[in-house]
Amino acid sequence: MWLRRARTIGLLVTILVTIAVPAVLFAKSLLTAESKTYKQAKKVILFLGDGMGDSEITLARNYAVGAAGRLSLDRLPFVGSVTTYAVQEEKPHRPEYVTSSAASASGWSTGEKTSNRRISTTPGTDEDLPTLLELAQKAGYATGDITTADLTDATPAAAVAHVSDRDCRSPAEMKACPKDKKSAGGPGSIAEQEIDHKVNVLLGGGKKRFSQVIENGNKTLMEVAQTRGYTVVTDTAGMQKAQGKHVLGLFHDADMSLEWKGEAARPYPGSGPQTCQQNQRPANEPSLAAMTLKALELLQKSSEKGFLLQVEGASIDKQSHIMSPCQQIGETIAFDSAVKVGLDFAQTHPETLILVMADHGQTAQIIQKPEDSKQPGAFSKLITKDGSLLYVSYATAPQGKAQSHTGTQVRIAAIGPNAQKVSGVLNQTDIFDLIVETLKLR
Ligand SMILES: [Zn+2]
Repeated sequence: MWLRRARTIGLLVTILVTIAVPAVLFAKSLLTAESKTYKQAKKVILFLGDGMGDSEITLARNYAVGAAGRLSLDRLPFVGSVTTYAVQEEKPHRPEYVTSSAASASGWSTGEKTSNRRISTTPGTDEDLPTLLELAQKAGYATGDITTADLTDATPAAAVAHVSDRDCRSPAEMKACPKDKKSAGGPGSIAEQEIDHKVNVLLGGGKKRFSQVIENGNKTLMEVAQTRGYTVVTDTAGMQKAQGKHVLGLFHDADMSLEWKGEAARPYPGSGPQTCQQNQRPANEPSLAAMTLKALELLQKSSEKGFLLQVEGASIDKQSHIMSPCQQIGETIAFDSAVKVGLDFAQTHPETLILVMADHGQTAQIIQKPEDSKQPGAFSKLITKDGSLLYVSYATAPQGKAQSHTGTQVRIAAIGPNAQKVSGVLNQTDIFDLIVETLKLR
């Protein structure tokens, strides 16, 4: 009896020595590595999945890597939740529980809540609010603003532009913002402001808008950009070769092409079962990951001080609006690949804070197998990596209408200096303060 007990104790000691001791040493080395390398941030990369709520992340994970798999954006150690609400235009500016991309991006870009159509301006009073990117430029950092959407879309716009309505994207689209027109003494359209700000790296879609002639002039926005020192590129090869402190990449007339395709969701009995068709993006348009890699290379050379880069995966939201699960998931996975580029960069540049978040939730829900024709909304059956059927439902708008954003809190994840501050429940305006503090912008 005692012999068996002694043997058991001996075994336990062996287990302790072989597992617990190295585990403690490993944890200790991780801690010292953190305290050594994570002292002061010089670089911030803010990854923004448009409409990428928890439901959309789970959907992409289930489909692409399996329910027990992990995406790159799942691997960041610090995680919190962000409330995304906007405010009403009229006083007393009560909450508007479901935000637009414009108000949400204005929220983290300026630290102030605004109403749903505004781009970094105050609700009601229409004052311009200084943005993170503007503060970073003033402090000597290089800046980048990249997206899979048209560069004049709400999220990239809010980083640098100030207009009273998100539709005021180009000189010919200023109807909703007469006071913002250059001829009225305003800062001009979103496209004009993006160039005037001399953001170091601007990559995305929007060639058509940047081909417009400026107000009271004869040059196009692209030509004006060139006279201001921008290298303008329009395809992947051009982007790869581009050098210099200012690069403007316009890879599509409007929003960039999608990564995947598949059938849209339909009312009962739904679409599918389907497996998504991948690799749909034409090779002359770079992926978000390739744009991120290039932006990092250019920004590294642009300023000794460091940089602030915003990277948006825009069409997760756009494809959810039109109930296209494969396209939506494909964009989420492409966004995740861009996050991986950021994480790899941070491995060799530990002075980098990486944040991954969303601006608002979207419609997609993972539901049980629908039983009959009383099933509301539209849905699709997807065959996942696990080999199971995944039922994706879209039911926040009637058939034929755009599906709606939702007012849920969304995930924020972080790694790098100050990442430990990303925990608990935050407001999207707190992200402004976090980045200001991290880069010492004030
Ligand atoms: Zn949207």
